[in-house]
Amino acid sequence: MQDDFPLTITAILEHGSKVYGRSECVTWQGSGGRHTSYATVARNAERLAAALTRLGIVAGDRVGTFCWNNQEHLEAYYAVPCMGAVLHTLNIRLPAAQLAQIVNHAEDRIVLVDGTLVPLFAAALPELKSVEAVIVIGAGEAPALGDIRVLRYDDLLAAEEPGFAWPELDERSAALICYTSGTTGDPKGVVYSHRSTFLHALSGQSASLTGATDADRILTFVPMFHVNAWGIPFGSFLSGASLHMPGPFMAPGPICDFITAERSTLAAAVPTIWQGILTYGATKEIDLSSLRMGTSGGAAAPRSLLAAFQDRYGLRIIQGWGMTETSPVAGMAHPPVGVELGTEEDLDWRVKSGRLTGGVQMRITDEAGTELPWDGVAVGEIEVRGPWITGSYYLDPAPEKFHDGWLRTGDIGTIDDRGYFQITDRAKDVIKSGGEWISSVELENLLVGHPDVVEAAVIGIPDEKWSERPLACVVLREDASVQPSEMAAVLAEFLSGQVARWQRPENWAFLSDVPKTTVGKYDKKVLRARFRAGELSMQRLEPNSAGDAEPDPAPDSGPISGT
Ligand code: ADP
Repeated sequence: MQDDFPLTITAILEHGSKVYGRSECVTWQGSGGRHTSYATVARNAERLAAALTRLGIVAGDRVGTFCWNNQEHLEAYYAVPCMGAVLHTLNIRLPAAQLAQIVNHAEDRIVLVDGTLVPLFAAALPELKSVEAVIVIGAGEAPALGDIRVLRYDDLLAAEEPGFAWPELDERSAALICYTSGTTGDPKGVVYSHRSTFLHALSGQSASLTGATDADRILTFVPMFHVNAWGIPFGSFLSGASLHMPGPFMAPGPICDFITAERSTLAAAVPTIWQGILTYGATKEIDLSSLRMGTSGGAAAPRSLLAAFQDRYGLRIIQGWGMTETSPVAGMAHPPVGVELGTEEDLDWRVKSGRLTGGVQMRITDEAGTELPWDGVAVGEIEVRGPWITGSYYLDPAPEKFHDGWLRTGDIGTIDDRGYFQITDRAKDVIKSGGEWISSVELENLLVGHPDVVEAAVIGIPDEKWSERPLACVVLREDASVQPSEMAAVLAEFLSGQVARWQRPENWAFLSDVPKTTVGKYDKKVLRARFRAGELSMQRLEPNSAGDAEPDPAPDSGPISGT
């Protein structure tokens, strides 16, 4: 075997541009799509690499992007790693200080910035230490950015010829760097090699994940700055699937217009976006008939959400699990063979977080680090390892994140004897009440199943007797059936029979919206801070006031049953 054949992003680019040169990147413009063939994307990537070389970028240098999902971003996805440099996708929603911190940490020398995002990027300017030049994408005058040289993308490409001679690369060399979105702590850099990216992209095309082919058109709604849009831009050059890029048109209305006009067949988004589409579709006629599948990840998708898409639009959303450290995809929850589609049993499987994908190994461990059985019952911390799982963080040893060569994910869950795993919570979010654990995710997912609830985030708050108790922060529909003052009792009653009595929150807060992180997850750090600052107006139900007459078979340690 030619075991030394390098698995590189250059090989992905060559395949996509030769074999699938007619597949397209379609960037939504608001009322129509800008169609560009993969062959043209590849030629532009060659021009961009030539321009970056002329600007002094050499192997190993970091080049940032501060962009929407669009064609130019895709060109940078290939140009930068294939020339041997490292692509650093910057989160456009970060506050300026955090943005500067990440740019400085990665020491980005050049950053490609979408014209529409220049003011946002400029806010970080005073603190930037390493950036020498900014390349502005889009029409219009190049803005002034202090001492930093400003160039225009179109001018740079126009000045170059295609046919850049891609260097031979070591497959283990760095290709990309992403920082975690920092939902539970400070962002950390994760470096992906050419090899890890190649293998992750290849795996993504298998039928146990997307099963994508050149008949597909994939709406890449997950941002390209969020774990490389789950690897879809690379996978598509292997499968030939066309890429649908929403640009700045991220609201449910334009997304639906895009899907309908360009007949997307697959769409990838976090649950809050899917929820947005559902809410939009409740009052507007939308046509999702071209979609053969949706994928959801980044946070747990509630059963009610999966069921609503199935019932209203016949759309199967398959959940996947992963994190920045896992490239990200480590599994998707396709039901096992023999399950009838569209049934309750089908949903039982689809609410799992995923089924472990080939190439990744998983185990769960208890607090002492002992491995627990794959029985679907034992709950522990999920640990993973494999060729696209990180073994370290960039310039940050973080030994507490690793355990004998396994990545400690910080996620708590179960795994069964067929490799289906269920994330019940993040270790930092799980509510420890009276010696038992309450899954905040389970409560949230049940609560959004109530017709009056739009969003629900549950956090643990200190409690003298039980150490912590759940506080449910809920956003109600504007036309909710009862007043917020009565809602707490209604929702507590709604949870009866669905969770053990001692798991039901007695603390409730009704908000106009739940704060979100830059990638659309519930921001529990902010909620906790608001609670500590006394900013949440809380209602407290007395234990047993939820109208549940049945004694609860919960453990004696259960807080409410014991009172
Ligand atoms: P951050 O950790 O800053 O949110 P990531 O985007 O890397 O950044 O998030 C990874 C985390 O998202 C996982 O550790 C897990 O807690 C959560 N997650 C991802 N997919 C799922 C899923 N299908 N169900 C539940 N949680 C998920």
